Amino acid sequence: MKYYSTNHQAPEADLQKAVVKGLAEDRGLYMPEEIHKLPKAFFDDMPTMRFQDIAYNVASAFFGEDVDLDGLQDLVNDTLQFDCPIVKVKENIYSLELFHGPTLAFKDVGARFMARLLQYFLRNGRGGTATHSTVNVLVATSGDTGSAVANGFLGVEGIHVYVLYPKGKVSPIQECQFTTLGKNITAIEVDGVFDDCQALVKAAFMDEELNRHMMLTSANSINVARFLPQAFYYFNAVARLREKLNMNSEQAAAAIVMCVPSGNFGNICAALFGHQMGLPVKRFIAANNANDIFYNYLQTGRYEPKPSKQTLANAMDVGDPSNFARIIDLYSESGQLSAEETYKRITSLISGATYSDEQIKETMRECYKETGYILDPHGACGYRALEEQLQPGEIGIFCETAHPAKFKEKVDDILGIDVEIPERLAAFMKGEKQSVPMTKDFADFKAYLLKQ
Ligand SMILES: *Cc1c(COP(=O)(O)O)cnc(C)c1O
Repeated sequence: MKYYSTNHQAPEADLQKAVVKGLAEDRGLYMPEEIHKLPKAFFDDMPTMRFQDIAYNVASAFFGEDVDLDGLQDLVNDTLQFDCPIVKVKENIYSLELFHGPTLAFKDVGARFMARLLQYFLRNGRGGTATHSTVNVLVATSGDTGSAVANGFLGVEGIHVYVLYPKGKVSPIQECQFTTLGKNITAIEVDGVFDDCQALVKAAFMDEELNRHMMLTSANSINVARFLPQAFYYFNAVARLREKLNMNSEQAAAAIVMCVPSGNFGNICAALFGHQMGLPVKRFIAANNANDIFYNYLQTGRYEPKPSKQTLANAMDVGDPSNFARIIDLYSESGQLSAEETYKRITSLISGATYSDEQIKETMRECYKETGYILDPHGACGYRALEEQLQPGEIGIFCETAHPAKFKEKVDDILGIDVEIPERLAAFMKGEKQSVPMTKDFADFKAYLLKQ
């Protein structure tokens, strides 16, 4: 499969290049040249199929030309070692729980898949170069991305991960998820803010001497290997709902509303790619916190990025969502349709919502009181959007993108409860913290890397 850039000014790439480079030369995002529709037989059989088998079918459509089929089956099985179940919260509203992975958030799926795909290319002699046998992943994090990437890549041969995080600015729970791992994961504690970490990573990618010394790559959510695998659990969610409610594909396509709490829009983008492949879903809702850029686009047709605002649902604090470019490319037929026509297509399929911190708190309290279900602040946006927008005859599924224990202090405080910490999170907290102190001066960071 070839991948083109959403800016159309860069040469096409094969999968390996798209994964190793992440971003195209013209700063655009890579898009697969084709999105294959899956066959009717697959949709007929879906409710009786296992998650791994459903995911394998989806994965083959994207990666089947570039990864041999046995290898792909292993990749999928290795990624999906945990379930993404749907849980009924109340009449017609289901939670798609994406938090049963190692770091309790949905990013585990894409991070793990990307790690395994890179490893596959390395093993087949196609990842590194003649001079470099190790691939070095640099990732700047304000909390969640670092832990998902570190855990996804933990123990993967041939890859070393450097997680840069701002000293004193991530929660203790988040910090222990990437500082206690050891092995091929190095945590770098930067005396600065998240933007300083981001700047160090960007400067490293641009530095010629450093790039000669070592092979560098990124693992952020714009990478095709991180966002496309997220389509797996949308197919599985529809399959499980159809199984539960004994629905055929047509009934599902007429009833199911998929609601995704969104920040950088990678997760909903994967759902929309699934829809292009034939996933029977009637419509989508993108639920935002107070960062309402996409919501405003849906109201006005104008995309106006803003500086991000800090909210309770902080993993969605994004003022210029990267994957917006992919959504536009998808519905404009790669730039062939006018902005107006594209806007019409998008608004006929996707609606928006935006909630303040006050509304998030109120929703968490009301849902807990009415149903006993504990929402985290991100999932709360999704749940509320369904409550407000679901029409008669529709059935809603919202993504619960993180386990409430991941935001324990906030959730305990808002609900007046003591959220139980799952065993695997508690295990991280017992580990010994190890990190390399670093200034925000690039010369220091570069000198450190040149010694590795
Ligand atoms: C990353 C994240 C989101 C936002 O997902 P996008 O793909 O960036 O839209 C939502 N909730 C949680 C808990 C996250 O970690």
